[in-house]
Amino acid sequence: MEDFVGAVHMVRVIDAWVERLDLAALGFARSRPAATGRPPYAPDDLLRLYLYGYWNRIRSSRALERECRRNVEVMFLVRQLVFDHKTIADFRKDNGKPLQAACAAFVQFVRGEGLLGLEEAVVAIDGSKFKASAAAGTVVDEAAAAARRERLAERIAQYLAQMDERDSAEAGAEDPQAEQLAAALSKLLHQDRVLAAAQAAIQAKTEAQAQAPVSEPIKPQAGLTDPDAVALRGGLAGYNVQQAVDSDSKLIVAHEVTQQGNDHRSLAPMAAAAQAALGAESLTVVADTGYMNGEQAQRCEDAGITPVVPMQQTASTRGEDLYPKSAFVYDPATDSYRCPAGELLNRFKRSRSRQTDTYGTDACDACALKANCTSGRRRTIARSWFAAAAERADQRARANRHWMRLRAETAEHPFGLLKAILAGGFLVRGLAKVRGEMALAVLVVNLRRAMNLMGIAKMIERLNTEPLAAG
Ligand code: SF4
Repeated sequence: MEDFVGAVHMVRVIDAWVERLDLAALGFARSRPAATGRPPYAPDDLLRLYLYGYWNRIRSSRALERECRRNVEVMFLVRQLVFDHKTIADFRKDNGKPLQAACAAFVQFVRGEGLLGLEEAVVAIDGSKFKASAAAGTVVDEAAAAARRERLAERIAQYLAQMDERDSAEAGAEDPQAEQLAAALSKLLHQDRVLAAAQAAIQAKTEAQAQAPVSEPIKPQAGLTDPDAVALRGGLAGYNVQQAVDSDSKLIVAHEVTQQGNDHRSLAPMAAAAQAALGAESLTVVADTGYMNGEQAQRCEDAGITPVVPMQQTASTRGEDLYPKSAFVYDPATDSYRCPAGELLNRFKRSRSRQTDTYGTDACDACALKANCTSGRRRTIARSWFAAAAERADQRARANRHWMRLRAETAEHPFGLLKAILAGGFLVRGLAKVRGEMALAVLVVNLRRAMNLMGIAKMIERLNTEPLAAG
């Protein structure tokens, strides 16, 4: 096998990387021989097989099994072992967390090699939706689940009535249609059980949210095929994947699979994950308008992270012809707004639950501009408690157009590669397993990127020096 694979070849990068890992310490299942039962598989061989597969966009366990029999590069990597597809599939299902740990360990390797900018590091944060292993329309909320169960109940009643009719009409006679009816009924009953389980999951999520209220609660949902998938735009069942990419090296330093339909609450956690991965005290993070959230921006600043995020320029929600909020100028010294008529709007209401203050003036009654300002008795302006942090993040983004160009250049290419590797969506179901599959894809993208940056020979040489500590 040594003769078939060149000395400077990508498979040797995979081989050296896996060789370097302490897989048992990373938590890979069945990496120690079990006292009883069937012999454990070797996680290092299966990890090599998967890295090669994802690198070459071969992801299904059956296809990987075939490669073990016919692909010389795979034979080299797995020491000519042939795994059955069930063993291959089980490895990916059973090792969600260890795969994430292996992915994080690679970030620490490239950090040790000086590929990540630590001084004045800039990280681009971006999110993208990936399809779950489930068809569109298979995620329901409480109302949808109840409506579907109601329709199912009607159909079940119809089938039962038909079966009763046949029973009384042809009692004792052979009836091939009765079997078809029973099979169809069994299918409907199964669908009803799945919907009932989804309702129970939604109920549990609702109760959990009630016990730990958040400022922006998510409408609880459950997937009928993949229980953890969420409904994304267009009815797609999927997951929202966040990534933080180092602007210098274009390596993905942190990523996360979330169940949130948008990016509104991902800025601070992703920035913190990037900061931890880089070991950086200070950091600049750039993100697009979808991440604008004053509370998140404030949390970044509190952690020594500088957020650069533009605000969405929205038209007035009060009507096309009315003054937009941007026509009102806030003065932090007096904690008041100056309106287009030059009047001061003072704070008159504070909402703890919405973390918002509201400003207004009594001058609206006699104002000559009122027709352009409000259709109500007076115009009020709401201001988030974190508006100042949001405005600072926005000002940074607007002060220099370079930031948004850098964001696009940095984040979009790795996402393109991830989309290509995971074309067609995830193959596994459930958040824990999906996180494992995403970690595999991210690890492959980073391995390829590091290989391009360092060169294959240098990377093999560096991987073959001092083994990594686990973790
Ligand atoms: S209606 Fe009220 S808030 Fe609007 S411009 Fe006139 S005084 Fe100012």
